[in-house]
Amino acid sequence: MNAMIFSEKGELAAQIATMFRGKYDFDIYTTSDFPLDSYGARNVFKLTGPSIYADNISEFLARIFREKNYDFIAIGSSVMGREVSSLLSEILHLEAITEIMKLELNGEYFVTERFFYGGKTVIREESRARIFTFLPGLVDPMPVDTKSTISQLEVDIPSNVKIVNRIEKPKGSVNLEKAEIIVSAGRGIGKKEGLGIIQQLADILHGEVGGSRPVCLDYHWLSEERQVGLSGKRVKPKIYIAVGISGQVQHIAGMRGSKTVIAINKDKNAPIFNECDYGIVGDLYTVLPRLIENLKK
Ligand SMILES: Cc1cc2nc3c(=O)[nH]c(=O)nc-3n(C[C@H](O)[C@H](O)[C@H](O)COP(=O)(O)OP(=O)(O)OC[C@H]3O[C@@H](n4cnc5c(N)ncnc54)[C@H](O)[C@@H]3O)c2cc1C
Repeated sequence: MNAMIFSEKGELAAQIATMFRGKYDFDIYTTSDFPLDSYGARNVFKLTGPSIYADNISEFLARIFREKNYDFIAIGSSVMGREVSSLLSEILHLEAITEIMKLELNGEYFVTERFFYGGKTVIREESRARIFTFLPGLVDPMPVDTKSTISQLEVDIPSNVKIVNRIEKPKGSVNLEKAEIIVSAGRGIGKKEGLGIIQQLADILHGEVGGSRPVCLDYHWLSEERQVGLSGKRVKPKIYIAVGISGQVQHIAGMRGSKTVIAINKDKNAPIFNECDYGIVGDLYTVLPRLIENLKK
């Protein structure tokens, strides 16, 4: 089987390549400068051009897909990747399955696994789909000793996208996916000021602060880039401390890969206690100061 991997995020392409190595032959297409030549691809194509957007890159990749007779397309699941997958599906008249975690071949079918019912369960499907987007962070990219050929490819199809205005996103400095320790705040903190004590704990542990959807998206107490969960970041720190988080499936979907989970919640029946290694039942405003005091010692 001969695969085309596309991601504008080099690390995501390297993750897919790491999963594919030894199973499929593949070429990587990317706009990223990430050094992708040591992940087992036959060829790495660096896409260049004055304006590359989902529309022209999809037309371009579709043309190459046909010319080179690839069997399927694997795309990193990002905002651009998801858009490209749906456009490619339309252009090539091929079925797409998005946000998958696993891909296996069974005869002429592909067997895929992805979260279902909002992350409550995993669905295993057999289909004729030929386009797949892969969730980020499924594996750590593992380089190999051999080197792939790298060449530049000019995207020679113009984009229809016209930029009418640019609005700067508030700059963040956080990379939650890489954090080794995360202290996450839930609605249970009750007020924005509650983040102070969460930050204190994170600082003492040299960790990052994350949050549940209400804290990030609904109340904007934290920036969206700190949201952990199904519609936020998928994290896999060594230690994940969930403070005032009930543990709904959509949140769990984002932190399931954590090595050790510690939960602090005043409700002993909160579902988070089914997901944690250590649980503290209590008011966070009583528990955290004592925890911080002890950690300082
Ligand atoms: C399509 C979809 C996508 C979603 N994506 C996400 C996502 O990416 N991430 C996400 O987090 N959610 C997501 N959600 C929302 C999710 O369903 C939950 O609503 C959300 O996770 C709940 O957040 P929470 O645990 O902070 O709040 P709550 O469920 O309100 O829980 C608050 C918890 O705090 C405890 N508490 C209250 N006061 C204290 C105190 N003083 N001390 C200690 N504990 C206290 C309570 O006992 C309670 O358990 C999504 C929902 C949908 C439908």
